[in-house]
Amino acid sequence: MQVLVIGAGVIGLAVARTAALAGHDVTVAETTGGIANGVSSRNSEVIHAGLYYPTGTLRAIHCVRGRRMLYEFCVSHGVAHRKCGKLVVATNDAELTKVETILAQAQENGVEGVEMIGGNAARAMEVELACIGALWSPETGIIDSHGYMRALWGELEDRGGMIAFETPVGRMSYQAPHWHVQFGGREPGTIQFDAVVNAAGLGAQKLARRIEGYRLDEVPRLVLGKGNYFGYAGRPVFSRLIYPTPIDGGLGVHVTFDLAGRMRFGPDVEWVAEENYAVDPRRAESFYARIRTYWPGLPDDSLVPDYAGIRPKLRGPGEPQADFMIAGPADHGMPRLVNLFGIESPGLTASLSLAETVVKQLA
Ligand SMILES: Cc1cc2nc3c(=O)[nH]c(=O)nc-3n(C[C@H](O)[C@H](O)[C@H](O)COP(=O)(O)OP(=O)(O)OC[C@H]3O[C@@H](n4cnc5c(N)ncnc54)[C@H](O)[C@@H]3O)c2cc1C
Repeated sequence: MQVLVIGAGVIGLAVARTAALAGHDVTVAETTGGIANGVSSRNSEVIHAGLYYPTGTLRAIHCVRGRRMLYEFCVSHGVAHRKCGKLVVATNDAELTKVETILAQAQENGVEGVEMIGGNAARAMEVELACIGALWSPETGIIDSHGYMRALWGELEDRGGMIAFETPVGRMSYQAPHWHVQFGGREPGTIQFDAVVNAAGLGAQKLARRIEGYRLDEVPRLVLGKGNYFGYAGRPVFSRLIYPTPIDGGLGVHVTFDLAGRMRFGPDVEWVAEENYAVDPRRAESFYARIRTYWPGLPDDSLVPDYAGIRPKLRGPGEPQADFMIAGPADHGMPRLVNLFGIESPGLTASLSLAETVVKQLA
């Protein structure tokens, strides 16, 4: 089949590579001039174990399965990563109860090696840490996400696929047996494809509304959950990822680092009406307070605004978390079309597993 994948983020690239490996003739259309210019370049680069998500949800299934696939991919394709492990820390009794609930959820999700450890054991691992107990997750890690996406692109091209940059997709219509897709950009026009995958991230809803005959009430609303990060100006003090107990809309301001060991904190949750990526330095105040609950030694004036990302959420403040939404032919009735909505965290981790599911739905 001639398959069009819209969006060259981690999800589009993983879908394109999987479709090419399955023998399809794949084109990726991307609005910007390069890969990974959207949500995929503005995240924590954490390979999540799959601790939090309710068992049986797409997030739980694809996070656990995708994580195993991703580690294998990193090894076989030489992508830099480190399985450094993560501690989810409790600083009071109420948090301890919450962390124990996360442990039970993780075990139900089939996450390997998770266990509760006491405050002393946690401090033996990380001397600067203050907590009364923690969940230890040895399967969590970090990845060079750009290296991963370059590897996906390379494999796509090896199989004859290609990415058309600066090629925004406009309207689409199905006229049996083909999809007719309008492109803008330098060489605008209409091209026919057998199958289409909408992996446009924050643009997925807008694109779906331009599909002729697609029911508007089947396009979920888009809620923007901005996440701000602050860099740490001193020498790193932790060698494992440290997470507080989760907050409404996110996992809490956690400690992550890149493969060079540079430490950063974030993301928080800021509900915004429009895309904007400026980090307001005044938000540092709440970061100091939250980080000091588990790292009392955080020095004054050590946090510097770093970057921000925007979660393509389907639910807003105070509402229960939504699942990933994979809208395929069985859902909307249109042949060989898959729309992906709400692919927020753990989308990077889940990408290879999601890709397999999406490609199967194109048959
Ligand atoms: C703050 C934050 C932290 C996160 N941390 C983690 C983490 O640690 N681990 C993890 O597993 N996940 C994490 N995630 C989730 C992960 O980053 C996302 O799930 C993933 O990057 C989504 O990728 P995507 O390909 O769907 O979207 P994108 O990367 O945004 O790609 C979509 C692409 O589509 C293009 N596009 C849009 N409209 C059109 C159009 N009409 N025509 C052509 N192209 C178009 C855009 O230009 C863009 O390049 C995090 C997310 C956020 C926001």
